[in-house]
Amino acid sequence: MTSTVPAPPAGVVGHVVGGRPVREAERFGPVHDPATGHVTAHVALASVDDVDRAVAVALAAFPGWASTGLSRRVEILFAFHELLRSHRDEIAHLVSAEHGKVVSDAEGEVSRALENVEFAAGIPHLLKGGFSQQVATGVDVHEVKQPLGVMAGITPFNFPAMVPLWMIPTAIACGNTFVLKPSERDPSVSLLLVRLLAQAGLPDGVVNVVQGDRVAVDRLLEHPDVAAVSFVGSTPVARHVYETGTRHGKRVQALGGAKNHLVVLPDAELDAAADAAVSAGYGSAGERCMAISVVVAVGEIGDRLVEAIRTRVEGLVVGPGNDPTSQMGPLITAEHRDRVAARVQSALEEGASLVVDGRAGPPVAPGADGVDVSGGFFLRPSLVDHVLPEHTVYREEVFGPVLSVVRVRTFDDALRLVNENPYGNGAAIFTRDGGAARRFEVEAQAGMIGINVPIPVPVGYYSFGGWKGSLFGDSHIYGPEAIHFSTRTKVVTSRWPDPATSTIDLGFPRNR
Ligand code: NAD
Repeated sequence: MTSTVPAPPAGVVGHVVGGRPVREAERFGPVHDPATGHVTAHVALASVDDVDRAVAVALAAFPGWASTGLSRRVEILFAFHELLRSHRDEIAHLVSAEHGKVVSDAEGEVSRALENVEFAAGIPHLLKGGFSQQVATGVDVHEVKQPLGVMAGITPFNFPAMVPLWMIPTAIACGNTFVLKPSERDPSVSLLLVRLLAQAGLPDGVVNVVQGDRVAVDRLLEHPDVAAVSFVGSTPVARHVYETGTRHGKRVQALGGAKNHLVVLPDAELDAAADAAVSAGYGSAGERCMAISVVVAVGEIGDRLVEAIRTRVEGLVVGPGNDPTSQMGPLITAEHRDRVAARVQSALEEGASLVVDGRAGPPVAPGADGVDVSGGFFLRPSLVDHVLPEHTVYREEVFGPVLSVVRVRTFDDALRLVNENPYGNGAAIFTRDGGAARRFEVEAQAGMIGINVPIPVPVGYYSFGGWKGSLFGDSHIYGPEAIHFSTRTKVVTSRWPDPATSTIDLGFPRNR
């Protein structure tokens, strides 16, 4: 994927350090338009020295930013919010051009990002500490939350606007400075985001971007001046980030992959469950960490449910993301498309039934403006029935437009399946039975639960995070837990002594 051949000067997606663009690099990687397969730019891949320069700039910016008043930080966040709103269309088109998702889906990504900025703009309230007067005679105690220093964010390809904005607003609202390492697959939107932050009045050096691959990531994980790392990506890399970062004394939250189950009980509203399975299974071509990957059909609903899903899947319009008639775009790379197709083949070979074979579907819709999309990384949706837990398609995170249906006899069987899965990001249940839904809420081993809601991504004033192999660390991301993650607490005990009553006392201080 990467090249040691220097890219042409035009079309380089570079770093932004201290407000300055940096386009020089020793290595570059290709950036594709997944709808055509063409290389549209080259991304600079940072060296250790590039990362060190960005961290040094962020460290130098820290004292000034940490002492910037809360009302000024809020002003900047409000201005940034306005700019994000007014540039929503531009951001969405840029996301679509490098990621491939349809523009309306990318607009949704920006909407969810806005919620995180809104939450962070409440920082004067969120940073309030406790105060206890007279804990002993003449002694008061109060608590303050102070920023950590330089925080780093390492983000995946699938939400190139939203996931960086899961991290940056709360990190900087708390007074930290930031180094973002975006995905090298769709790096351009990060440059637009830092441009808008600068336009909003954020001082140079507070948020920096280094483009790159594992060289940049590993340097951030080892760098002595990086205090904390937020990571979102696949589970093997999340585990590596958590283990390496914590070994180097950092605070780390590392969100990993997922295998989200949607349990459909026999009493569920059939059409609503089928609509939800299709929307959450194939939206963004299944490249969402909260995508539904497995439908668990309980009891006699199985045949009717599979049929209802099949008719919907066969009607889906697959095409370029910038065509308003497309419902689903291409996958991120040709390699990933081939890997997903191989999972479909494995399901067939291991004994599952292929109800809809996306590899054999009709060609995709042509490009909206007559562009040739025959070289695009498209794969039509597949539906696989009678999947068993030992099948490869069930065991692996597919991260593509493939929905597996596992049939079970009882609610208990369904719950066991969810809980035995090594991932625990989201889990959903469709039912009209309040008692069953409540039991699912209490007993399902996952961080985010949907009741008749297939993709239960928490709103910006709650926090987002999975359990088990879907998150390493003890903090969820954005929302209240991000304030905790981005600050450290200091407790101050104070007395204003009266010289007349002051004495020497070598005993351990007791509160009286
Ligand atoms: P990825 O793990 O390949 O890459 C994520 C980041 O890590 C990128 O910035 C990449 O440059 C870097 N990276 C990749 N390999 C590395 C290595 N060996 N060492 C160090 N750094 C490395 O993930 P992706 O393919 O970009 O994104 C898809 C994955 O992210 C899926 O598994 C998906 O479930 C997951 N994801 C999870 C969440 C969540 O909230 N839990 C959200 C979005 C995506």
